[in-house]
Amino acid sequence: MLEDDILKGAELIKQGKLVTFPTETVYGLGADAKNDRAVVNIYTAKGRPTFNPLIIHVTDLEEAQKYGEFNEKALKLAEKFWPGPMTLVVKRIPNCKISYMVTSGLDTIAIRIPSHEIARKFLKACGTPVAAPSANASGRVSSTKAEHVRESLGEKAGFIIEGDKSQVGLESTIIYCAKDVPMILRPGIITLEDISAVVGEVVKYDPDKYATAIEGNKPVAPGQLKTHYSPRIPLFMNATEFPEEFAVLAFGKVSDDIHVDLNLSESGDLVEAASNLFDYMRRLDTFPFKGISVMPIPNEGIGVAINDRLKRASQNGF
Ligand code: AMP
Ligand code: MG
Repeated sequence: MLEDDILKGAELIKQGKLVTFPTETVYGLGADAKNDRAVVNIYTAKGRPTFNPLIIHVTDLEEAQKYGEFNEKALKLAEKFWPGPMTLVVKRIPNCKISYMVTSGLDTIAIRIPSHEIARKFLKACGTPVAAPSANASGRVSSTKAEHVRESLGEKAGFIIEGDKSQVGLESTIIYCAKDVPMILRPGIITLEDISAVVGEVVKYDPDKYATAIEGNKPVAPGQLKTHYSPRIPLFMNATEFPEEFAVLAFGKVSDDIHVDLNLSESGDLVEAASNLFDYMRRLDTFPFKGISVMPIPNEGIGVAINDRLKRASQNGF
């Protein structure tokens, strides 16, 4: 039974084990954020570079404020969009009990309050903040269904609390809120326009203003690693040519002479497209296809987040 699984999962978290749980964005691979050894196991299970810090998941704003310092704008955003698919990066409260493995030694911390009912019950039962990246091998496509988790991580996923397909289907919008002007580190379903309506000026990620990690020799913000969300076969975005041996991932109405394999949204609905993106990328990442051609997605509103993920999954997106 689901309720039993939630309680079992919470018990395992308290014992320092890994537990995979559903959220509205994607499935998360969770561990007790206060337990160093448990958190190390997340990095090992995913093969994730340790300079790439984790998001902690909590049940309410009061709990969030035990670990992060919220300025006025952060509070406004929290009140507007939590619980929901938004992560806030705020100043870490220096002596809080969160493992330094979670924050990779940064003086900021990424926090989210999910809205998914199972995730909320689970977090409540854990009674401790849960550090959780997406439940997939590092650099690969995130999991929006329990079966993707098994495919991607196998036994390494720990105990899996099974839920439905993740409704949003894209990872949370990450907003850096430790300084005066909020900066979007990772676009998501909560768009720049949505954020700006609450706090006024918002800027897009700018490596000159925010860079904490190194990839190759280049400083990048966490969340901006170039290759991410990648299928095994090459993917080309904004495709206008459709070679025979390539799978075609369409969007909107398509002319009859193109052989469409899957369509993200026939009616051209970006919310629907976002929720299907990772599932469809996985389905097409199979024999006998030699690559995936993805039709252009309008780069506005939620389309910005979809194109961001496609860019980092693709051969031609930078
Ligand atoms: P995921 O690995 O899919 O769960 O995504 C978590 C994202 O949050 C990663 O891209 C991290 O780099 C980012 N993140 C976590 N903590 C911080 C932080 N303190 N500052 C900036 N980004 C962060
Ligand atoms: Mg991830």
